This record gives sequence, C-alpha cells and structure tokens, in this order.
Amino acid sequence: MTLMIPFDNTYAALPGAFHSKLPPVPVKAPDLLAFNEDLAAVLGISAGDAAEMAQVFGGNIVPEGAEPLAQLYAGHQFGTYNPQLGDGRAILLGEVVGSDGIRRDIQLKGSGRTPYSRGGDGRAWLGPVLREYVVSEAMHSLRIPTTRALAAVATGETVWREGGLPGAVLTRVAASHLRVGTFQVFAARGDTDSLRQLTEYAIARHYPDAEGPMGLLRAVRDAQVTLVSAWMSVGFIHGVMNTDNSSISGETIDYGPCAFMDVYHPNTVFSSIDRGGRYAYANQPNIAVWNLAQLATALIQQLEDPQAGVEEATEIVHAMPKLLEEAWLARFRAKLGITSARAGDLELVTGLLERMAQNQSDFTNTFRALGTGDARDQFTDPAAFDSWAEGWQARLEGEPDPQALMRRTNPAFIPRNHRIEEMIASAVAGDFAPFHRLTTVLARPYEEQPEHADLQRPPAPEEVVQATFCGT
Ligand code: AMP
Ligand code: MG
Repeated sequence: MTLMIPFDNTYAALPGAFHSKLPPVPVKAPDLLAFNEDLAAVLGISAGDAAEMAQVFGGNIVPEGAEPLAQLYAGHQFGTYNPQLGDGRAILLGEVVGSDGIRRDIQLKGSGRTPYSRGGDGRAWLGPVLREYVVSEAMHSLRIPTTRALAAVATGETVWREGGLPGAVLTRVAASHLRVGTFQVFAARGDTDSLRQLTEYAIARHYPDAEGPMGLLRAVRDAQVTLVSAWMSVGFIHGVMNTDNSSISGETIDYGPCAFMDVYHPNTVFSSIDRGGRYAYANQPNIAVWNLAQLATALIQQLEDPQAGVEEATEIVHAMPKLLEEAWLARFRAKLGITSARAGDLELVTGLLERMAQNQSDFTNTFRALGTGDARDQFTDPAAFDSWAEGWQARLEGEPDPQALMRRTNPAFIPRNHRIEEMIASAVAGDFAPFHRLTTVLARPYEEQPEHADLQRPPAPEEVVQATFCGT
C-alpha cells in the first residue's frame, strides 16, 4: 500500500450504544473519479495510485488503522420526530488530526447497507455524489464552515431510483458527524449515561472552553448563528434542515436538495418534498432556533436540577433570534461595502432586498454589481434601484474602501443549480469535463475569471431547475 491515512480514532472507543461496527460493503468495479489533493495534504494523507485509492474510497479495502462503524442518531424530519435514523448508507472509517491541529472524520457515503438502513439500499448515485463534491467544496472556498469532499468513486454498479442510475461513493470529511439528533436519540431513550458521555465528548472535541451541557448549548448556538447568517449572505438554501442534518460543530452538512438562489425571493424553496416551505430561504434562521430548542430539550435531561436547567436553556435559546439578526445585518452591511454600524442600516438592507424581490433581480449578480456600478441593470425597473442607491451612496461616505470590501463579500461565482444539473447529465454520459471545470472555477469564487463568464449567467427560463429531489 502506498496510500497512507494516519488514523487516530476516538469515536470507535465510545461504548457500543453509540454505533455499530461493520465494514463498508464492497462494490463491483471501483473507479476513482476525483481526489482532492489540497484537502489530502491538510489531512496528512499521502495519495497512492488511482487503482488503490479507488479500492479504499470505494469501500473494497479497509485501510490500516481504520475502525469502520455506522453511527447511531435520531432526528426531527420536517418537524416530526423519528426515533431511529443513524448512518443508513455511510461508514465512518476513522479520524485524522490535520496539519492545522483539527481532528476530522473520514466517512464513506453510499457505502452499502447498515443496521440503520431501514428500507434503503445503502447506496448513492453519481448525481448527488458529484453535487455534494462541487457544492461543499464551493462552500469551503466561499469561507463558510462545511464538510468537505476528499474523493468520489464510481462503483460500476447500478442504483435503482426512478430508473437505473450509475452508483458512486463520496468520501466526506467533517469536523465530526455529531448532530442535534445524536443527542436526541439518547435523551428520548432516557439513556442519561450515554447522554452525559456524548456531552463530554462533544465539549472535548469541539468546544473545550464550554462548561457543562449549558455551555455546550451556548457554543452550538453561536456556531449555528455564524453558519446560518453566512448561508443567508450567499443566497444558500440548505433544503433539509432536519435536526439530524444540524451539526454540533456548526458546519454545513448533508447536501441533498440544496441550492443557491438565482432570482431573489425570500420564499424560495428547492426541495420537492418541502410543500409547506418549512425550509424556505428566509425561514432558515427560524428553523435554526427551532433546532437549537430541540438540542436544549435533549441536553436538559442529564441535569441534576432540570428545572433550573429549563430556565437557563430557555434564556440561551431565546437570545438566538437577536444574535441571528445582528450577524445577518453585519454580513449584509459588508455586502454593501459598510464597516461601521448605524441606525437605519436594517432599513437600508431590507429596502434593497424588497426592491430586488419586486424586480426579479439575480441575488449573486446584483450584489456583485454593486461594486462595479452596474447593479441597476439587474432590476426590471432600474429606477427602483436608483431611488434606493441615493441613500446607499450617502451612507458610504467616510467608509475606507467599500469596493474592496464588496469584492471580498460578494462572490462572482456560485454553483448555480442549472450548471450542476448540466454537469451531472454530462457525467452520466461519461464526460467529466464540466465537473472539473466547476470545481476549478468555484475554488476562486471572489475572483473575476472572464474566460468563465458564462458560469455567472443566471439560467434562461427553460434552464431553471424548479426542485432538487430527495431521491439521492
Ligand atoms: P438524509 O435525508 O440524507 O439526511 O437521510 C436521512 C436518513 O435516511 C439517514 O439515516 C440516512 O442514512 C438514511 N438514508 C438516506 N438514503 C438512504 C439509502 N439509500 N439507503 C439507506 N439509508 C438511507
Ligand atoms: Mg442526513
């Protein structure tokens, strides 16, 4: 073996209640489609030859030092509690401590059935694997906390969804896979010992300065505030903010029916099963609070004095909406080129967003164009922009360098949904050039790349993707 992964595992040492130990299910003909050299370097992984990496990241060979397991968790899905989820199609190989000192999980997703698969086949098809690869890496390049993609492997097997599709496995790298749902499963079962152990583990791994369960709750709240306000600032819609997809570390996790908005509208929804708009763009901060309340409910179960705990937890959760609004406003101020805080800023931001919604403005291109002076072209009625821009120009007086700030905060490139779908269609037909082009361009989202200007273009009416499906 030339491929070396310096495993240093901690989750596997937790008691049996936390996981099921089993290897990934081998695949027929593993073929390495992508390998993330930059990420591998951070993780201290020395790449082997392609055939060997395909065997390891396809799940056919368990590398030395790995202790493969599926994690147990539960979660609220679209508001309804499901007492037993768990990794139904993922296997944690183990953890490595990177050159930056951060411990990260290395997990295969699409690696076959586990005790938590319920009715599922344990597999993934190529489309969602490549979507997650491109979008999670783009998120990282946008400087937003996220899980990352280390490798993608084609399995040579057919996966049955609406029809037969090519199978694939994604190697996902995460600060951990601890979710709100990991706490919920033990709390709901009344397994206080495991809940205490999990709390200690989460504090040691993510928030060593946090004191006790309520300290952890506060730290998770702050990380989620940072995360969700960052999503809002780039027009990202997660699509399935279930509590099992809500990470304790504050990373974006689980790229299912996610997408970046083209035309701005606060009610935009992408998931085909989100009929009520629970996870619509503008509802994401509310859902983050709801999810934190579920974490609070779970954490309280382990306290000596639950009543005192309820009061403290309530105070922590109730402070979240205000923190979200402040973080959101700070992000949008920066997108307007503003560093200072003044009364009237909230109205300035919402005034622009309202006009954008009324004028079919493209979210990304409008903000980017603020810095280049072309923003009025993004409005069906340019006068609507002009009347807003007067106040904005006045507000910019005395700001040190609004242009530079706007270039750093308003990306030129986002993974547009119609480009993702086009990339997937090409890959299914055997052409991976669009995949490699997207990953390359999106690695530098804040830079002008005139030769790739077509990737900045919003979809033509016939190109608009209405929904991304959960049949992942
Ligand atoms: P997700 O919607 O990806 O967050 O998944 C929700 C739950 O369904 C998790 O427990 C997954 O492991 C499980 N799951 C999703 N797809 C499959 C599949 N094809 N086979 C088995 N389990 C799955
Ligand atoms: Mg999930």
